[in-house]
Amino acid sequence: MNQDLEKIKIEYISKIDSVTTDNQLEQIRIEIFGRNGKINDLFSQIKNISPELRKQYGADLNQLKTELEQILKNKSVIKSDKLKSDTPKPSVFGLPKTGHLHPITQTERQLNDVFLKLGFSLYSGPEIVTDEYNFKRLNVPANHPARDMQDSIYIKEPEYLLRTQTSTIESYLLAQKSKELPLRAAFAGSTFRNEKVNRSNHFVFHQYQAVVVDKEVTMKDLIGTMDLMFKTLYGPGVVVRYRCKYYPEVEPGVGPDMQCFSCHGVGCPICKYAGWIEMGGAGMIHPKVLEMADINPKIWSGFAFGMGLDRWTMAQKNIKDIRTLMGGNLAYKPNEK
Ligand SMILES: [Zn+2]
Repeated sequence: MNQDLEKIKIEYISKIDSVTTDNQLEQIRIEIFGRNGKINDLFSQIKNISPELRKQYGADLNQLKTELEQILKNKSVIKSDKLKSDTPKPSVFGLPKTGHLHPITQTERQLNDVFLKLGFSLYSGPEIVTDEYNFKRLNVPANHPARDMQDSIYIKEPEYLLRTQTSTIESYLLAQKSKELPLRAAFAGSTFRNEKVNRSNHFVFHQYQAVVVDKEVTMKDLIGTMDLMFKTLYGPGVVVRYRCKYYPEVEPGVGPDMQCFSCHGVGCPICKYAGWIEMGGAGMIHPKVLEMADINPKIWSGFAFGMGLDRWTMAQKNIKDIRTLMGGNLAYKPNEK
C-alpha cells in the first residue's frame, strides 16, 4: 500500500483501538466515512495523482476503505458482544443468554488486529482448490513423499480437493501479486484432512497464515514477527522455542513450540507429556515456490508462517477437547472440564 495511506491507516487503527464508548466510535466513523470524512477527501485528491500512479493509488485507497470498515465493524461487534455478556437476559426457555462470537473467530480477529497494526493486508481464498495450487506450486510435485503428511479429501481425483492448508491461499496470492511486490498478507480459513477425530485432532481445522515477500527479508524478521505475535496473544511471559522443521514450501523451516499452558512444562495429557505444544510451521519461502509464481528469488525473498488456530484458541481459552470447537454446545464455559 502507498506509504501515505499506510500512515493514515496506522493512525486510525490506533485511534479506533483506544475508543471506549459508543459515542467516540461514532465520532471516528464520521471522521473517516462521513460526507466530509477522510476517505471522501482522499478520493477527491485522486485527480492530483500522476496518471501512471493513479490506478494503483485508487486500488490502495479502496483497500484502505475496506480494511478500516472491517476494523470498525470488529470493534462494534466486540463491544456489543461484551455488552451482551455483561447483561444476561432470560431467554424464552428461562435460561440466561450466553451468545458470543465463536472462539475461533475471536482468535482470528485478535490476530487480524496484530497484523493490521504491522501493516499487513487481509485476504481470503477458496476452500475447493486444484492440486496445482495446493501442492505443486508449494514445491510438492506428484508422488512427492511430503504428500503422505497430508491425507487429503478429494472432490474429484486427481485434480480437485478441499484445501489441506492455508498455504494454498499463499500460492494463489503469489501468482496474483507477483508484479505488485512487496507483499505483506495475512489470512485465515478452514482446512480439511482425512483425520480420525479425537480430543486433539479433527478433520476440519483452522489455520492462520502470514506471508511477506520483500527485498532482503531474513529469518530475523520471521522470528521477530512471531515473537511479537505470541507476546500479544499470551502476554510477555510466554515461553516459546524454535526448532528446525521440514516443510517442502520453505527452506530453512522452523516450528515454534509454546510451553504447555496447562502443566507449564512438567508434562500432562494435553501436551502428550512433552511439556511443549507445537504451534505451527514457518520458514523462508523456498526459491522454487517464488520461481513458480514468476518471482525472481535473486531479487525477492520472503517468509511464511502458518498456525493451527484451534490449538491456539484452546490454549487461550483453556479448552481441553478440540471437539468442543465443532460441537453444538455453543454455551460452553471456558473452564469446563
Ligand atoms: Zn502439559
